Amino acid sequence: MSEISCTGLVTCLRSGFFDVETEQGKISCRMRGRLKRGIIKRDIIALGDRVQILIFADGSGVIEEVLPRDHTLVRMAPTPHGEVKQVLLANLDQVVLVFACAHPEPHLRMLDRFLVISEKQGIPPLIIANKLDLVTLKQAMDIFSIYPDIGYPVIYTSAENGKGLKELSKMLAGKVSALAGPSGVGKTSLLNSLQPELGLQVKEISEWNQRGVHTTVVRRMFPLDGGGYVADLPGLRSLALWDVEMEEIDGYFPEIRPLVSECQFNNCSHNEEPGCAVRKAVEDGKMNPERYESYLRMRFMDD
Ligand code: GDP
Ligand code: ZN
Repeated sequence: MSEISCTGLVTCLRSGFFDVETEQGKISCRMRGRLKRGIIKRDIIALGDRVQILIFADGSGVIEEVLPRDHTLVRMAPTPHGEVKQVLLANLDQVVLVFACAHPEPHLRMLDRFLVISEKQGIPPLIIANKLDLVTLKQAMDIFSIYPDIGYPVIYTSAENGKGLKELSKMLAGKVSALAGPSGVGKTSLLNSLQPELGLQVKEISEWNQRGVHTTVVRRMFPLDGGGYVADLPGLRSLALWDVEMEEIDGYFPEIRPLVSECQFNNCSHNEEPGCAVRKAVEDGKMNPERYESYLRMRFMDD
C-alpha cells in the first residue's frame, strides 16, 4: 500500500544508487531490475535524466523509467569491452567555457576545440572571460570580442572585484549548465562568489573523480539558489573530436560554413588550394587568424 509514483531529476550517481530530486524532496533510489536487462547497466541512467519513480513507505525509491532526453553531452569512454558512448550529462541547456583574460594566458586552441564539440553535440556554449581585473577592457576585448561576432556570447567577469557576476548569475538561473575550462582560470572562485561554498563542493567532486582510479566515480550536479544546476565534467577536458569526419569540421565553424560553397574546388580543405574563399577571408581580415589556426590544427594535426 501507499506507494507514491512521481517524476524527478537525477542529481547524483553513485554505485548502484541515484539521488532523485522530486516534489517530495530528495529520494535515494535504486534501479528497477527490468531496466538493467540487455544493456550495459551503468549507462542506462545518466546525470540530469528525468525519471519516473516509485516511493515506498520507508522513504526509499526505485527508478521505473527514464524519460526521453533532450540534449546530451556524450563522450566515448574506454571500457574492458571497447569504447562505449557514455552520457556525461542529460538535458543540459548550455556548456559554460571558463577562460582567464590573463594568468593563465587564454588557451584559444582549447576554447575553439570546446566550441566545435558544442556545435557537434548541439549544445549552446557560453564563454566566460574571467580575471578582467588583471587587464584593461580593451585588452580583454582584443582577445574575446571575435566570439560574439560569430554568434557565441561572452561575459566578462572578475571573481576578484565582482564585475559581471550579476550577468553570469542571470545566465545560469533556471538552467542546467556544464562547466569546463583549464585549471587556474577561476571556476571555483566564480562559483564561490555566486553562492558560498558552491565552488568548493564542485571542486571536491571533480578532484575525487580524477583521483578515483579504483573507487567508483560519483557524478553530481549542484543546485543554484536562483534555480538550475551546475555540473563540473572532468571528462569534458578529455573529450576528443571522436566521430567527426574531417570535412564535417567546416560546418562547426560558423564563420567558415557560409564560405565553403565559394571555394574554387568543392573538396577544398581551405589550406593550400587556389581560389580558397576561407583563406581569402583571413587575408582580407574578415576571418580571425587565430580561429583559422585552430581550424587548421583540428583538421590537419588531429591534436
Ligand atoms: P579553478 O582551477 O578554475 O577552479 O581556479 P580557482 O578558482 O582555484 O582560481 C585560481 C587562482 O586564480 C586563485 O589564486 C584565485 O584566487 C585566482 N582568481 C580567480 N578568479 C580571479 C579573478 O577574477 N581575478 C584575479 N586577479 N584572480 C582570480
Ligand atoms: Zn577553401
